[in-house]
Amino acid sequence: EKTTVEGNKLSPMMQQFAAAKAAHPDALLFFRMGDFYELFYDDAIVASRELELTLTARDRERQQPMCGVPYHAAEGYLQRLLRKGYRIAICEQMEDPKLAKGIVKREVTRVMTPGTALDPTAAASENTFLAALTVGADRKSSGVAMLDLSTGEFRTTEFRGANAVNLALEEVARNRPREILLPASLHLGGGQAELNGEDDTEADLLSGVRTRTPVEDWVFTSEYALPLLQNHYRAHSLEGFGLAGKTSAGIAAGALLHYLRATKHEEIEHLDVPRFYERTTCLELDAVSVRNLELVEPLFSGENQQTTLCYALDACRTPMGKRLLRAVILRPSIHAEEIETRHKAVAQAKNDLAARERLRRALEGVLDLERLLARLALDSAGPREVVALGRTLATLPTIHDALQDLQDGRWSALKNNFDTLVDVCTRIAQVIVEEPPLRLGEGDSIQPGVDAELDELRGLSRSGREAIAAIEERERTRTGIGSLKVRFNNVFGYYLEITKANLANVPTDYERKQTLVNAERFTTPELKDYERKILTAQERLGEIERRIFAALRREVLDAAPRMRDTARRLAEIDLLANFAHLAALRGWTQPEVIADSTVLEFAEARHPVVELRLEENGTGRFIPNSGYLDSDNGPSLALITGPNMGGKSTYLRMAALLVILAQSGSFVPAAAMKLGLVDRIFTRIGASDNVARGRSTFMVEMTETAAILNSATRRSLVLLDEMGRGTATYDGLSLAWATVEHLHERIGARTLFATHYHELTLLEEKLTRLKNLRVACRETPQGIVFLHHVESGAADRSYGIEVAKLAGLPREVIARARAVLKMHEKAESASIAAAGQAAQPTAPPMQMTIFTPLSQRVVDRVRELDVDRMTPMEALQLLAELKREI
Ligand code: ADP
Repeated sequence: EKTTVEGNKLSPMMQQFAAAKAAHPDALLFFRMGDFYELFYDDAIVASRELELTLTARDRERQQPMCGVPYHAAEGYLQRLLRKGYRIAICEQMEDPKLAKGIVKREVTRVMTPGTALDPTAAASENTFLAALTVGADRKSSGVAMLDLSTGEFRTTEFRGANAVNLALEEVARNRPREILLPASLHLGGGQAELNGEDDTEADLLSGVRTRTPVEDWVFTSEYALPLLQNHYRAHSLEGFGLAGKTSAGIAAGALLHYLRATKHEEIEHLDVPRFYERTTCLELDAVSVRNLELVEPLFSGENQQTTLCYALDACRTPMGKRLLRAVILRPSIHAEEIETRHKAVAQAKNDLAARERLRRALEGVLDLERLLARLALDSAGPREVVALGRTLATLPTIHDALQDLQDGRWSALKNNFDTLVDVCTRIAQVIVEEPPLRLGEGDSIQPGVDAELDELRGLSRSGREAIAAIEERERTRTGIGSLKVRFNNVFGYYLEITKANLANVPTDYERKQTLVNAERFTTPELKDYERKILTAQERLGEIERRIFAALRREVLDAAPRMRDTARRLAEIDLLANFAHLAALRGWTQPEVIADSTVLEFAEARHPVVELRLEENGTGRFIPNSGYLDSDNGPSLALITGPNMGGKSTYLRMAALLVILAQSGSFVPAAAMKLGLVDRIFTRIGASDNVARGRSTFMVEMTETAAILNSATRRSLVLLDEMGRGTATYDGLSLAWATVEHLHERIGARTLFATHYHELTLLEEKLTRLKNLRVACRETPQGIVFLHHVESGAADRSYGIEVAKLAGLPREVIARARAVLKMHEKAESASIAAAGQAAQPTAPPMQMTIFTPLSQRVVDRVRELDVDRMTPMEALQLLAELKREI
């Protein structure tokens, strides 16, 4: 039940609360009261549940629920709520309660949301995106903008056509934002689609985004959002951002800016201009593939990161490099030229150990330039962080020098106009002391010599303190009280403390200030004088430090665009150096990329993640495998059979990862690789976490297969693993059969198809561009041994029982299964023989399984015949009929 706030009965303070809450109805309102933030009503109930706080009542009779957190410990609580997806409004006291006349003025000064708050726990390699989605009136256009306030990254794109919204949602899902802004009236998925028995994939795609924030529809209009964007960047048109005519992309970007303002994020100088990008300029990986291939996240959340490609590839030295690596893996290039440029740069650094190591060492000390800059812009950086920024800037000349030895194309481009920001670095070192305190005012932050008045005041304050110390000595001598002390506290200032025992010796010019149990505290006119001097000096000191710090902050922020440019270069330098390092360390080779070809050929290739894992665990060696597909000149579809655990799915994934690596600009774990550019990778592999959300395995599988058959092109790479498992054998086999035919005949995409249906291997005779592959295994007296070697040919049987034996099924169950299998095989060959059409009675019977019901009908009809009464004509007709049935 919602507790309501009845305005008229409320105390003035609760009226203040009610007004603040009304302005931020969907946020938990942290209401500052003295040393606490208090929450009331529903907010209190939610917060006490999520934070395990005790719920109390503000007014016992009316039972208004309330709970609170101490002001100084609030940050941890806030972060916990943000991570759980909540929005928070902070209502501060705007004046000193001691000085306030009547009720203290309060205002909401901060609105924190999962997508806009800085998360100190975020991994360096991870972006914390806030996204916005806009949908055209006819649903034929849709824009997505993405912004990371913690790094300043800002980009936007749009989609058109019947599928626009889905593509836009895919794009959102791929980037895993912390929060998404949606037009308030937007309705996703469900509805009609649900009635048709389809899946509400639209809503599904957003299931990974915990916080969905509805924003009024008028924000998502070109009349409002586009001028907002233009004015913010003081641009005359949107053309400069590549946004001319890109209304949806522009609106989405404008909506993000609107939201930043609405949540009181006004200090955003570090924000990049929104960069328009096109999905079709990169290799497209749908959300399913990103998940299945474990590019950045393990397939099952909670599993450790070591199964991801990103983990296996990340030896980057800088946070910027780590983030770029992740982005590049998710969006490999489809431009042969760009890819080759990278490969060449990697090759050079790979071959020049000295240059590579010099560069990687130089990158070592680089901190997160983008995030430090962001903290400064958001005004949450203290002097120590500015010094950290300065130290990072100080490493830039060394990095620039280290690039000297690398002359090749991309390296030169990165080196030329590399801004080492020496002026900014020098300025920081001039202004801030080397080891400043965390926050201003907690010690000296500003260098001597920066401001004459500051130096003088420091001198005054120091000499004042020295003078006071001298007073202590002098008064001890004068009074003869050895234990006399001059002390300071915040409430009483400076005082002379004398123990009770010595009170008799106190001179008459001492004024009593305070009485304690064992001592009395005094002051003198002289002491008061110094105190006043010191305290005013200190106050003034604080003011000057703040002023100088603010000016420095402005100066540094003025250089923000230069720093962003340098940060981008650092990211790429780090990425290329990282690729070179991996290539050298693990013996990877440069793939040959061919723009206008459809070949995918690799020799002696390894799965980068599995290989690493085997190595690290010391559990074995990865068996290299080769492969060849070519839609134009060779087999376009390879059908892979073999026992479970044989290595089929590893082979499929390996092929996809090789392509992603090559098109990302990396070398590949293979003796050689030739690649005609791939435009999209589709996967239908293994389990999907959709199943966990209550949909049948079969439905998920068919939805994913439908997506592939509807959108794959001749340039795509398609991976299908064990299709048709979730249904009756014949249904599954028939669907798999038809899918293979469609991929082969209609689409022509390079396809790897791993299957249990051995019947499919018969297709090799019929489909000219289909090739059978099998994973090799050997039967030994101890059981089946997997060789993990992929070779030509079809597996002769499924080895299901042998694998089950390895899994430890009870011996009698294994024996019984063998007997049942034998019976079935016998029955089959008998029926085939009886049909009189035993094409190959000696052929492995499992290949015929699918035809059993057909041949059975033929057998039945033949049995019923009275051959003696038939004319030759009738016999011929019947033969023709039977043939049609087969
Ligand atoms: P399948 O898909 O045929 O059931 P998987 O691809 O899942 O088999 O592989 C089963 C196991 O064999 C995996 O745990 C993997 O680590 C290992 N494996 C697969 N391929 C290789 C290989 N080429 N070299 C070494 N181990 C492999």
